[in-house]
Amino acid sequence: MKTKHEESYKPQPAPPICPVGKTDCAIISEVAELRQILTELAKLVRTDTLTGIANYHYFVQALEQEIERTQRSGQPTSLIMLDIDFFKRVNDHWGHEIGNQALIHLARLLQKIVRKLDIPCRYGGEEFAIILPDTNLAACLPVAERIREGIEKSPLDVAGQPLRITVSLGISTYRGEQEITVKKLVQQADQYLYQAKENGRNRVCHAELPSVDLVTTEEKQALSDLFGSGTIKKD
Ligand code: GH3
Ligand code: MG
Ligand code: MG
Repeated sequence: MKTKHEESYKPQPAPPICPVGKTDCAIISEVAELRQILTELAKLVRTDTLTGIANYHYFVQALEQEIERTQRSGQPTSLIMLDIDFFKRVNDHWGHEIGNQALIHLARLLQKIVRKLDIPCRYGGEEFAIILPDTNLAACLPVAERIREGIEKSPLDVAGQPLRITVSLGISTYRGEQEITVKKLVQQADQYLYQAKENGRNRVCHAELPSVDLVTTEEKQALSDLFGSGTIKKD
């Protein structure tokens, strides 16, 4: 826990230094101001204005980076694509503005549920993506299921009325065996997302898990927390 002193202490930014080393630089405060504006703009470029989480632009960059990392290190990357079920009905029933509140609510839940290193993004519209670095399929499944269940069980409070939403999720995992693009990895996860929609929504779909002798201790632990395979749903 933070002490009172730590809570009130805000580190001051270092005084600006003239880029060409002048001690009586006339434009130094302007340079500092422009730097500050640049930092803010850089943040805006990667942020979704409605929900405040990473936007599509940042998603593509981050996933490209993780794909490269997997190719170098052999550590897998998983991707979850998530789409809200029957969101058009939500808008029709509650109105577009409350629909927007539901999107903000969902983004906050994602930030709370996923792990620190995972990257939740707004992919577009009512579709979200979560990048899970260093995560194989078996380790990704409990995270996806936590997300599904967490959203189902945390309705948005609209003036005392619960606005309940559910989501469908598809997972793809890249193990670095062959070249892949962001587009292809998204397509693979999307295929399972469509399968989740077709199978009744409010569920997680994914590829077959690797055969038992390929499964690590960590994967076995994750698997033992789950039941069934291919499709997870708790009614
Ligand atoms: P499905 O379960 O098949 O995904 O059904 P759905 O109704 O969610 O899918 P559909 O693609 O028919 O409708 C998506 C809806 O999401 C329609 C669109 O108006 C709404 N939507 C997309 N972006 C936003 C947004 O930023 N705000 C709000 N309020 N609604 C949005
Ligand atoms: Mg959609
Ligand atoms: Mg939808």
